[in-house]
Amino acid sequence: MPESLAIKGGSPIRNTFLPYARQSISDEDISAVNEVLRSDWLTTGPKVSEFEKEFASFVGTNDAIAVSNGTAALHTTMFTLGIAKGDEVIVPTMTFAATANAIALQKGTPIFVDSDPETLLIDTNKVEEAITENTKAIVAVDYAGQPCDYDVLSKIAENHNLFLVADACHALGATNGNKSVGSLADISTFSFHAVKPMTTGEGGMITTDNPHLPKLMREFRNHCLNNDHRERLEAGSWFYEMTNLGFNYRLTDFQCALGISQLKKVPKWTLRRQEIAQMYNNAFINIDAIKPLKVRDNISHAYHLYVIQLDTNKLSASREEIFKALRAENIGVNVHYIPTHLHPFYINHFGTKETQCPVAEAAYKNILSLPMFSSMTNDDAKDVIEGIRKVINFYSN
Ligand SMILES: *Cc1c(COP(=O)(O)O)cnc(C)c1O
Repeated sequence: MPESLAIKGGSPIRNTFLPYARQSISDEDISAVNEVLRSDWLTTGPKVSEFEKEFASFVGTNDAIAVSNGTAALHTTMFTLGIAKGDEVIVPTMTFAATANAIALQKGTPIFVDSDPETLLIDTNKVEEAITENTKAIVAVDYAGQPCDYDVLSKIAENHNLFLVADACHALGATNGNKSVGSLADISTFSFHAVKPMTTGEGGMITTDNPHLPKLMREFRNHCLNNDHRERLEAGSWFYEMTNLGFNYRLTDFQCALGISQLKKVPKWTLRRQEIAQMYNNAFINIDAIKPLKVRDNISHAYHLYVIQLDTNKLSASREEIFKALRAENIGVNVHYIPTHLHPFYINHFGTKETQCPVAEAAYKNILSLPMFSSMTNDDAKDVIEGIRKVINFYSN
C-alpha cells in the first residue's frame, strides 16, 4: 500500500511549511543597517558608492550602478541603450516578465525566443534567425542561476553589432570558467529582492566595463539630473538641470549597507545551495518521472532555483495535481515561469500567441521549482526528497 497522501487526508511529510525561498539576515546585517540609520545620509550618501565598488570588484567589472530593484536595472539599461519605438530587442520567453517589460517600458518591441529543452536557457540556435534590421540588443537570462552560453551569444552580438545584456537576477555567485556572472556580457543586471541570492529588501545593480554608460545610468536613476545632492553639497552649489526624462530609481544608504554585508556571504551561500542541489540530484537519479535541468560544462551554478521537469507520460496526474499534493505535504513547490509571451498584456499589445515558442510552452506545463535557499537544513532537503518520492510513487503509472 502506498502511504496516504496529505491531500487525501493522510499526514503530511512535515508539520511546518517549507517555502521555496527565504532570505538570511544576521545580527551583523542588522548592525550595518542600524549604523546608517543613525548617520547623516539615508540616501545618495557614501554607502551607495561603497556598495557599488564592492559589487564591481566581486563580479570583476570596472563599474557597478546601484538602483532600486532588478526591474529598474533592466529599464535603466534599455534607456541608456536608447531603445525606443520601432526598436526590437531579443529576449527569452522563459523568464520573469520584467525582462521583457523593460523593453516595452521604452516602447521597444520584445522579440521572444524559445528555450533549449534541457537547460531552459535561451536557445542560442534560434537567436540569429530572430535578428532583423531593427534589432538593437540581445538579452539573455541566466535562468535558475545557470549562466547562458555567452561565448556563442557574444559572437552573434558582435557579428550583428548588437549590445549583449545578461539578466543575471538569478545568478549572482555563479561563474563560467574563470569569469564571474556580471562580467560575461556588455551589461548585466541583478535583483536584491528577498528571494534572490542576496537581498536588500528591494534593490538592484547594473554591472559593466563600458566607459560611457555608467554616467547616463546614474543620471537616469536620479530624474536625469546632471548632478546629485551629494555632488551639489560638495561643490557648495544648489544648481542642477534636467537633461532628459528619468525616474527615481535610487537605492537608499541603509539598503546599500545591508547589501555590503550580504555580499560577503554570497560565496558561502552559493556553496550551500550547490550542496543541496547535489542531494536532490543524487535522489532523483532513481526517479524516472523526474528530470532535473541539465547543467552546462564549465559552470558553477548559483541555484537560485532548483527546477525539475516532470515526465507526465509516466504519471497519472498533471503538474497541477502534483503541485497541490506537494503543497499539502508542506513542501513549498512553485512554478517559474509562465512563458512571458503568453501573458495577456503581450497577447493584447504585441500579438504574441500560443505555438510561437513550443519548447517553452511544453516545459511550462511540466516544471516545478523545489525549495532552495542557503539556510535550509539537510533535514529540510530530506523532507523535500521524501515528499517527492511519496507523491510521485502514488501517481506513477
Ligand atoms: C527578480 C527578477 C527580475 C526583477 O527584479 P525585481 O527586483 O523584482 O524588480 C527580473 N528578471 C528576473 C529574471 C528576475 O528573477
